[in-house]
Amino acid sequence: MSTQDDSFVVFERVQKSYDGLSLVVKDLNLRIKKGEFLTMLGPSGSGKTTCLLMLAGFETATHGEILFDGKPINNIPPHKRGIGMVFQNYALFPHMTVGENLSFPLEVRKIDKKNREEKVKTALEMVQMSEFINRKPAQLSGGQQQRIALARSLVFNPDLVLMDEPLGALDKQLREHMQYEIKNLHKKLGVTVVYVTHDQSEALTMSDRVAVFNDGQIQQLSTPAGLYEKPENAFVAQFIGENNKLTGKVKNINNNEVTVKTAQNLEVKALKVNCGEVGSDTTLSIRPERIHLNSKYKNKVNALVKQLIYHGDHIRCLIELDKENEFIVKIPNSNIQNNLKIGEKISLSWDSKDCHALDA
Ligand code: ADP
Ligand code: MG
Repeated sequence: MSTQDDSFVVFERVQKSYDGLSLVVKDLNLRIKKGEFLTMLGPSGSGKTTCLLMLAGFETATHGEILFDGKPINNIPPHKRGIGMVFQNYALFPHMTVGENLSFPLEVRKIDKKNREEKVKTALEMVQMSEFINRKPAQLSGGQQQRIALARSLVFNPDLVLMDEPLGALDKQLREHMQYEIKNLHKKLGVTVVYVTHDQSEALTMSDRVAVFNDGQIQQLSTPAGLYEKPENAFVAQFIGENNKLTGKVKNINNNEVTVKTAQNLEVKALKVNCGEVGSDTTLSIRPERIHLNSKYKNKVNALVKQLIYHGDHIRCLIELDKENEFIVKIPNSNIQNNLKIGEKISLSWDSKDCHALDA
């Protein structure tokens, strides 16, 4: 069945155990399209790097199959796979110049000297590093080294590039700039990218689709907007963006609307997304910008303003529902006519469609 569609990379029922006891990748099924920018996002230890290493051929799957361009990956020797790679710790050869570093993958592929020079020149232009061709890596800044690593991964025109936390060592400003550059190169070259990061904002801004990993499993595979607007479970709701949550029990189900009795004895109406039958535990999730102050919706709770933080374009309010529950609410700077004060009693309300009933 796997070869019957146009998926470029396929993980099919892939498992990985390093010690023969515990699975660090559990029954992974993932199809990546040609030209796609797919990000594996998840906390440290969730199995992202292991998946990338299996795809690159540096680790083998304990179970299942990985297909690359319709063929099982283990039948193709590494240098014939046409896969470029970039890692967090650059891994440039320290004794070689920038030019020699870039030429190396071409020599391995038996490209003649004239063509090598041409390709190295083009790759350096691509990352705006032409004048550094004779420098050694130690004579470059972190950001420049990472640019060279990027150029080296692309110099042989690979069909697929794997990037494992490539910007993790850079400061915020440079990281954001490089995100933009990588995204541009992806668009320009049309190359398929599998990108690994633990940084959710990086994943959301760069990717066509994101696979959210936790504990060796994909929790949700979706577009960035899909993950934020329609998280399928409590882990994804909490991991992506900012989230307010309440726990409770399902009291009543009416088509896709559920009534939930919260731990504070509130009755809240919510959208049925991924919760069990009447009586089961559930987590309610509401995004900060979907909560309104002193407004009309029927889901209403009384609360206390605890902290106000000025952010220029919006005010972040920390609102106490009770001793155990605090909500974050964002109010756009244009409607602060209500002039909130710390200690003030207010009501919070929201549209029941913006409150998602998820797994416990
Ligand atoms: P991530 O990249 O998401 O941080 P990894 O794939 O590196 O996660 O690791 C997943 C799990 O596998 C972790 O528990 C890690 O300790 C374990 N692990 C990774 N590499 C090895 C290895 N070579 N030998 C044994 N255990 C490993
Ligand atoms: Mg990793």
